[in-house]
Amino acid sequence: MTKRVIPLRATAPLVCAMALLAALGMVTVTQVPRIWAVLSLSMGHYVWMPPPSPLKPTPGGAMAGRVLAGYWRVQTLAPGTYAIGEPQDDPDNYEYLLVGKSRALLIDSGAHVRDIHPALAELTHLPVTVIPTHLHSDHTNGLRYFDRIALIDLPETRGRVTQGKVHLARFQFMAPYSQPTPVFAVSEWVKPDGEIYLGGRRVRVLSTPGHTATSVSIHDPSAGLLFTGDMIYTTTLFAFMPDSSLSAYLATADRLLAILPPDTMIYGAHCCRNDRPATAPWLTLQDLRDVRSAVAAVMSGKARGQGWLLKRYPVNARMTLATFYPLGNR
Ligand SMILES: [Zn+2]
Repeated sequence: MTKRVIPLRATAPLVCAMALLAALGMVTVTQVPRIWAVLSLSMGHYVWMPPPSPLKPTPGGAMAGRVLAGYWRVQTLAPGTYAIGEPQDDPDNYEYLLVGKSRALLIDSGAHVRDIHPALAELTHLPVTVIPTHLHSDHTNGLRYFDRIALIDLPETRGRVTQGKVHLARFQFMAPYSQPTPVFAVSEWVKPDGEIYLGGRRVRVLSTPGHTATSVSIHDPSAGLLFTGDMIYTTTLFAFMPDSSLSAYLATADRLLAILPPDTMIYGAHCCRNDRPATAPWLTLQDLRDVRSAVAAVMSGKARGQGWLLKRYPVNARMTLATFYPLGNR
């Protein structure tokens, strides 16, 4: 009996094709966040965003607060506590300044390539440390003007350090390719739930993933305030970014609702409430409960959203929640 031998030449193309497919699959799986970042940056979230859009509602009346340095809209929220907003711009961020007895903490650094120091100089003469609530460009663009920078100490942030400096990845920074990703030195690494002491005032840095994996919220227990960045704010929550996660959103909301006093006021990073003149974007724990319910409904398949690739779901009168296609961002 003779054995049938398949010539090597006949199987080679098949093996090559399978290897190519496997390699393509690997690249796709490992590069999905980056591919998504490129797509969303080049086409724009707003082009993809399904209606109805409560984005940038037009509030009636004058904007609250006074203007400093010809640009920054400043409101005093509590003694030594300021909202410093850019509600007239796009992105329409709000930064927050907490002043202690020996130093001050700035939460987020400014949405644009604009130095916030002229406004800070009118509010405090103490040294200012800045902490970004997360690493997206509209929260880290102003870091270039600071040499005192605090950052959450997580494997994802420590892993970006080379030769003593943090080099943000494109999918973390999320800005057009024309804008180089920032490189900066961290002067203060803060462990999750760690404290920052400002002199007579102590705030806690809570790890609050959801919008991104490294997002933080700053809790000021003495003032009863929580500064949440883009985890929760008025208008549309972006739960579709490269490292957004609905299950993390759910866990974060549960944890915050369990540990925060019921009268805690929330201040988010984007403007504006649609039921009153433009003001620092405040919310309550009921809004956080509403976000939790919306996320749970999306995850269980019970919520009805609009859109296809990006889907928008209702939260309440002040917020909607935008997620990626159904299997994304779990
Ligand atoms: Zn933002």
